[in-house]
Amino acid sequence: VPPKKGKPKWLRVKLPTGKKYTQLRGLVDKYDLHTICTSGSCPNMGECWGEGTATFMILGNICTRSCGFCGVKTGRPESVDWAEPEKVARSIKIMGIKHAVITSVDRDDLKDMGSIIWAETVKAIRRMNPDTTLETLIPDFQGVETHLDRILAVAPEVISHNMETVRRLTREVRIQAKYDRSLGVLDYLKKNGAHRTKSGIMLGLGEREEEVIETLEDLRRANVDVVTIGQYLQPSKKHLPVKEFILPEQFEKYEKLGLEMGFRHVESGALVRSSYKAHKHID
Ligand code: SF4
Ligand code: SF4
Repeated sequence: VPPKKGKPKWLRVKLPTGKKYTQLRGLVDKYDLHTICTSGSCPNMGECWGEGTATFMILGNICTRSCGFCGVKTGRPESVDWAEPEKVARSIKIMGIKHAVITSVDRDDLKDMGSIIWAETVKAIRRMNPDTTLETLIPDFQGVETHLDRILAVAPEVISHNMETVRRLTREVRIQAKYDRSLGVLDYLKKNGAHRTKSGIMLGLGEREEEVIETLEDLRRANVDVVTIGQYLQPSKKHLPVKEFILPEQFEKYEKLGLEMGFRHVESGALVRSSYKAHKHID
C-alpha cells in the first residue's frame, strides 16, 4: 500500500489498558523510571506490561551513530554512569518485571564500547531479581570478540542483535553498520555458547520480497533462533520516509516461510517491535 493515503487501519493503535498496565504506569511515574516502552510510546505497552515484560535502555540517551530510521539523538554521549546497573536492577524490582529486555545506544566512543557496563547490568539484575529472565539486545561492538565475550560470560537467556533491513539498504538505513559484520556477530554468539540468538528487521523501507527472504536465509545460516519482522514507521520528518505499508497477508507469508526455514519463533506483523512477545523467546 503506498503511504500517500495515510496510515492503514491495521496500524491504528488502541490505548493500552488492563489492571497490570495501570499499576505499572503508576510505579513508572512515581519513581521516575525509564523504559523504552514509555519513551518511544510503544503501541504494545498494554500487552507487554500485562505479561510482565519491559525494555530498558542503558549507557545514556545519546548515540554515537546516526541510523536513518532511529529516533534516538546523535552526538557526543554523556560520561558513563557506573551506578546505572544498580538503578536498572532496582527499576526491574520495583516494577516486578518477569522478563526484561535490555538495550543500549552505541558507544563507539568508549574503549570497551560499553561492554563492561553491559555485563555489570546483567549481573546486577541477576543479583537483585534472581527469577527475572533476560534478553540483551546488543550493538555490534564493531564485531570485537572480547566485547562480545563479556556478554556471553554473563549468559542472558536470549542475546539479540538487529539486522534492521536487507543487505542492499543497510548503508542507507544504518550508515555506520555493516550487513556482514552484524551477521558475523550473530554467528559468533551462537558458536560460542549463546543459549538463544535473535534478530529483527523492519519492512517498508523499499526492500523487495526476495531480499527479505535472502536476509531470513542468511540469519538461518548463522543459526539464529528467533526473528521479528515489523513495519517501519517514520519517527519524524527528518527520518527516512516510509516507502510502503506492508499488507497483513504479506507479514503472514513471511511468518510461515520463516517457520518453514526452521526458526523457533517468528513474530511478523505491522506492530511487531523487536521486544514484542519477548518473554516467549527464551525457550
Ligand atoms: Fe516495551 Fe518492547 Fe513491548 Fe514495546 S514491544 S511495550 S518497547 S517491551
Ligand atoms: Fe539508534 Fe541504535 Fe542506530 Fe544508535 S545505533 S542511531 S540507538 S539504531
